[in-house]
Amino acid sequence: MSVFIGIDIGSTAIKVALVDSDGERVASLIRPTGADFRANAVRAFETLMRDNGVRRREVQYILATGYGRRLFREADDSMSEITANAAGAHRVGQAYGGIATVINIGGQDTKAIGLDPDGNVNKFAMNDKCAAGTGRFLDVAARNLELGLEELGDFHHRAQGMPATLNSTCAVFAESEIIGLLATGHGKPEIVAGIHASIAKRTARLARRVGLGKRVLFDGGPALNKGLVTALEEALMRELIIPSEPQTVTAYGAALLACDIYNSEQEIGSDAVAAAHKAPNGAVEE
Ligand code: ADP
Repeated sequence: MSVFIGIDIGSTAIKVALVDSDGERVASLIRPTGADFRANAVRAFETLMRDNGVRRREVQYILATGYGRRLFREADDSMSEITANAAGAHRVGQAYGGIATVINIGGQDTKAIGLDPDGNVNKFAMNDKCAAGTGRFLDVAARNLELGLEELGDFHHRAQGMPATLNSTCAVFAESEIIGLLATGHGKPEIVAGIHASIAKRTARLARRVGLGKRVLFDGGPALNKGLVTALEEALMRELIIPSEPQTVTAYGAALLACDIYNSEQEIGSDAVAAAHKAPNGAVEE
């Protein structure tokens, strides 16, 4: 068996994806990044192989991406998460008739990527300076509200009144604002809806900088939050495509690129072998 692995070492979570030689997703796995990026990445990589009965020699190529990609020395190569995300979203998006724009919210940054019809990146914008529109802000907000991340979506949709207004553009001040809203008797659902509306507003502004194509895919861990999806759809005034495994799209893209790179290296290798065997009269020796 020949397989290819993409590993996305994010600020919050490590995602590993395994594809076969047709680029079909075989398996994926998500583990917390924790404090020891490297040890946790190696553990996640080995767990994915063990759980799927894959031996190391069957892995033809490993491509690392994400914030901590350079720490994973086991990889054959590394690539930016923009390229890997685009590759994964392009492939996932084929089932929907093609994707023109990708919005990714990660633990520590937000990205908008414009794709051409072949899946190449033609434009991108990124916010990695401020935590206010990212997954980290949602993690902190959920903790302040004593809610699990998985509960945010339900709470959002339970809101009866207007979403609470959050004025702070900084995550640290927004945290104080959330505590203030709780202290003044605002309901948790309205606060959650307000948090999502504020993240959606910032994200929509970033996405408009690259331009919104016909179909827009939203991925990254926060795309699991159905309340945030609703808020972003409202802010962008359009329906979004949410893949079935939004958090592993970038790792999947890295695995697809690993497969492509390996195949093109094989072709170059066989061309070189053919050239070396070429007889002086131009005939290729068997
Ligand atoms: P990174 O690549 O930067 O590590 P991810 O794309 O893995 O980021 O997203 C991490 C974020 O996803 C977390 O900070 C969290 O806010 C969000 N998240 C993870 N799991 C869930 C879930 N089940 N429901 C809602 N949000 C989630």
